[in-house]
Amino acid sequence: MKVHDVIDENFEELALLESLDMGSPITRTQSFRKFVLQGIMYFASQTMNCMGQTIPNSLPGRFTTMTLKAPVGVVGGIIPWNGPLMSQWWVIGAALATGCTAVIKPAEDASLTVLRTAELLIQAGVPEGVVNVVTGLGSEAGAALAAHPGVDRIAFTGSTATGREIIKASAVNMKRLQLELGGKSPDVIFADADLDKAVPGAAMAVFSNTGQVCYAGTRLFVQRSIQEAFVERLVEFGKSLKVGDPLDPSTQLGPLISERQLERVMGYVSIGGNEGASLAAGGNRLQGDLAGGYFIEPTIFSNVSNSMTIAREEIFGPVISVIPFDDADEALRLANDTEYGLGGAVWTSSVKTMTKMMHGIKAGTVWVNCYGLVDPAVGFGGYKHSGYGWKGGPQHVEGFLYQKSVCINED
Ligand code: ADP
Repeated sequence: MKVHDVIDENFEELALLESLDMGSPITRTQSFRKFVLQGIMYFASQTMNCMGQTIPNSLPGRFTTMTLKAPVGVVGGIIPWNGPLMSQWWVIGAALATGCTAVIKPAEDASLTVLRTAELLIQAGVPEGVVNVVTGLGSEAGAALAAHPGVDRIAFTGSTATGREIIKASAVNMKRLQLELGGKSPDVIFADADLDKAVPGAAMAVFSNTGQVCYAGTRLFVQRSIQEAFVERLVEFGKSLKVGDPLDPSTQLGPLISERQLERVMGYVSIGGNEGASLAAGGNRLQGDLAGGYFIEPTIFSNVSNSMTIAREEIFGPVISVIPFDDADEALRLANDTEYGLGGAVWTSSVKTMTKMMHGIKAGTVWVNCYGLVDPAVGFGGYKHSGYGWKGGPQHVEGFLYQKSVCINED
């Protein structure tokens, strides 16, 4: 609870550091205050939940049997650059709640909020050495942490390719793993949806944080009968967004994090065009005052086919691929035709359609008439190549604990 108060008191500074470090708009980083503080409160409450059970048994004689919980030990937290201010808490919160220690390896592109948080933890009274930060390159510091025999568990968020490396490295000492990896999430709009909500919802499902979100709804399936009108409204909405200086409170979209990321996103934009998708909006690097930064226009491709590269690979930029469909069966088949399974959404006013999609989408989270909401007590996870190990909720905390059964001979 003391950690909660210290983070609360220093949140303005943390939000500013995050915006300076990774370019997310200041109004967005400031708006994380509630989520971060609620997350800390949630993990604080879980300190009361690290308990075993006394279980009746059928052993011959008089025995008491029970289970106990024990901290798993040292947890390595390898986190990405797209939102360390928030994502570090999945590791720090659960480690503090369970009595583990943590070594956090922030991404080389955005380490500042993690370093400052570590200082604030000391200020809050967390003993030195409980939460540690090691900065450095993934291939050096990250790989060393993943392979270290003194580390008992790795909580990793990042690309699927790196996730595979982490799995291999874990073999050295059977490290427990939690992996939240890439996504290519389907966002499915039916003609009977409330379009006043679905248009901004679908746009921000991708444009938020300039598309640098693992569960971004980048494959936007729109029922064919409304496709044209929907794309028109989407384009209009995209054009209304203010892209610019992250520290300007009126900015809605900041730059991409790095030149490397800009090149990657622009590369996908040209692949989209070459493979025959129609560019409905955006696609350019911003000029004028913003020419020196890694700014790109909110970009919308229409008439995309699910087999095109832009519909298959994770872009991690503000690029929406609109893919038409005729009915719920086709939508479901296309939605699940991906190697990923992190998130998905359906927008409809029909309970029948909603339940069909809710059950049918093979992803760790399905949003209905909303997108991207995450609660620390509910959590989220992945199907298929999007990883394993539930993040959030009691299961997440359980992952930081060993269970032990005890059998006591009473005679
Ligand atoms: P991205 O491509 O989005 O940067 P990465 O998976 O490369 O995603 O990075 C996520 C985190 O994993 C970062 O902190 C990065 O430094 C780290 N990382 C990268 N490569 C490795 C590796 N081989 N072993 C461990 N950590 C790594």
